[in-house]
Amino acid sequence: MNSFKYQCSECGKTFDITPQIMLCDKCSKAQEQNKPLRGILEVTPPKKASLEDIFSFLPLEKKNFPNLPVGNSPIWTADLLGRETGFDNLYIKNDGTNPTASFKDRASWPVAAFAKTWGINEIVLASTGNAASSMAGIGACAGLKVTIFLPENVPMGKLVQSLQYGARVILVDGNYDAAYELSMQYSKEKGGLNRNTAYNPITIEGKKTVSIEIVRDLKKAPDHVFVPVGDGVILSGVYKGFRDLLSLGLIDKVPTIHAIQSSTSDAIHRAWNNGGKFDFKHSSTIADSICVDVPRCGHLAVKNLYSHNGKCITVSDDEILVAQKTLSEKAGLFTEPAGAASYAGFLKAKDQIEKDSTIVILATGMGLKDLSAAQNKIKIPTKTVKDITEID
Ligand SMILES: *Cc1c(COP(=O)(O)O)cnc(C)c1O
Repeated sequence: MNSFKYQCSECGKTFDITPQIMLCDKCSKAQEQNKPLRGILEVTPPKKASLEDIFSFLPLEKKNFPNLPVGNSPIWTADLLGRETGFDNLYIKNDGTNPTASFKDRASWPVAAFAKTWGINEIVLASTGNAASSMAGIGACAGLKVTIFLPENVPMGKLVQSLQYGARVILVDGNYDAAYELSMQYSKEKGGLNRNTAYNPITIEGKKTVSIEIVRDLKKAPDHVFVPVGDGVILSGVYKGFRDLLSLGLIDKVPTIHAIQSSTSDAIHRAWNNGGKFDFKHSSTIADSICVDVPRCGHLAVKNLYSHNGKCITVSDDEILVAQKTLSEKAGLFTEPAGAASYAGFLKAKDQIEKDSTIVILATGMGLKDLSAAQNKIKIPTKTVKDITEID
């Protein structure tokens, strides 16, 4: 049996895993306003684990997970796109197939198991939309009360989804960052387990499962992985998974990870270019799931990129929309704008990559979640016909 602990990603101090501990007591004292979280905790790697048993990598017992098919998302080669770009081993891993249609289920699922373990019945979080609908759906299956704080401009699909699953939705007069602050205040004053991304260590831990599945399914570590980045938790989870596998001797290298940000929501990219120092700028992008002013997991994200020689690339909204349309038309994959950002990043980076490399593009959310974004590169017919002679 593995014995897991929390460990501070900055100073290395360890803590027992309990709901009372979210950040390192020492390093979190250095927290500054409008800056990424300090003292983020990770879970120590397992001493023994099997690629065939995802639960052996996690600090929670299988019996506490709600019975929903999370993860195990399909991975396949995009043959047309591979031929067009000259890469034979261009894989897509589509997390839009999760129960609530986004990557966020990988975090919500173990958070629900954590709540069950500790007898907690309410979960509180802020979200740009997907974490909310994810926790709402998985919480519904687990019989949990879910309270979510959403920015007022949340895409309708994600709002409807959250309400449909029966969550209590609080619309915030402001952006995601404002929702984040309110949700923190709420869980401190009114209780409930806070699932905010990066703040709750189980979110990173859950997101690591994607790397374990990639290695299990490809039977090796890929050479390159493209990851869309907002708060930087998927990125940190991807690294955590590969680092766990490396520490167990199940792979012999950490792949080159490419962190893809929107050029108008690029706080991690700016810090990566600036010795790890974060400044503050307002963000806006069509890819709402990666639209954040203050990336909560920013310090850990940049630390991971520096220590494993990762890359960071920005892409414009138009490049994202073109990538979204290309994935739909040439791979049969309709993913939301943030999910397509990784492919847009690959198109930018591909000339620097060896053609025989094994590449994985993470598609993180389903296209139908944001119908208005998807209408940018298509034309809805306005004319109706009654007779075949009217068709040219
Ligand atoms: C949340 C999300 C991301 C970005 O994840 P971070 O952990 O915030 O970096 C990317 N794509 C989709 C679809 C998401 O929902």
